Amino acid sequence: MVLVAEDVTYRMKPLVPLTSASFGKMNRHVSHFFGTRHGPYHGGLIGNRGTVKAAEPDYPLVVSVRQEHGSEILVLDRPLKVGEQFLDGWDAVITNQLKTLVTVRTADCVPVLIADSSRGSVGAVHAGWRGIAHGIVPKAARKMVERFGGDPTAFHVAIGPSAGPCCYEVDAPVIEQLMLDVPRSATVFKRTGPETGHVDLKELIAWQAKSLGIRQDHIHVVDACTMCRSDLFFSYRREGRVHGTMVSGIMLT
Ligand SMILES: [Zn+2]
Repeated sequence: MVLVAEDVTYRMKPLVPLTSASFGKMNRHVSHFFGTRHGPYHGGLIGNRGTVKAAEPDYPLVVSVRQEHGSEILVLDRPLKVGEQFLDGWDAVITNQLKTLVTVRTADCVPVLIADSSRGSVGAVHAGWRGIAHGIVPKAARKMVERFGGDPTAFHVAIGPSAGPCCYEVDAPVIEQLMLDVPRSATVFKRTGPETGHVDLKELIAWQAKSLGIRQDHIHVVDACTMCRSDLFFSYRREGRVHGTMVSGIMLT
């Protein structure tokens, strides 16, 4: 099921395909959403980074942490209190706690939400090209198995709106790094100049998820580009600076 904050629901109504990275009937106990530039808003939903917040009644506890384009994973395996602080940087937050919304903020990077339907755990992952090279998504999924049990074949992965293969251009050092760390890069790279090319980040994440044993039909992709759709998304690359980021999240209900 897709859970979206009210303003996002409103904005996204005519854009149903955008919400299609849904976990569907997989698990009635998981809610998730991918935000747009229209909401849910930072201040309203997540407040200060690193401080556990109680937001609206729908989100009893909200966790949003500083992201560093690294591969550190924050594990939340105990009940949290409002006001509690997590002040380091993490690019994935996983939890087995009910009614604890874990979030990720993105502009062109890929927000990835993971749910284990068998054991009851979820994760929110921030994956840019560096995170993908670090294998942040498979690392987060493996950490969910290690800490909470379960099996990747029961996992669902939703890959949200990000800079798409139509627009996301990288240069030689990035291409080389991705080729080295993610073999699939060779087939999703389209040359745009002598030293530049377009890369499909979402496809790389889907490939990494499959390599981990996650079923193809459990991998859901939002086919929307943050750089093309200025009406819906902030884009660091398009706008040249950070005007804002989208908030996405997942929660065991
Ligand atoms: Zn595009």
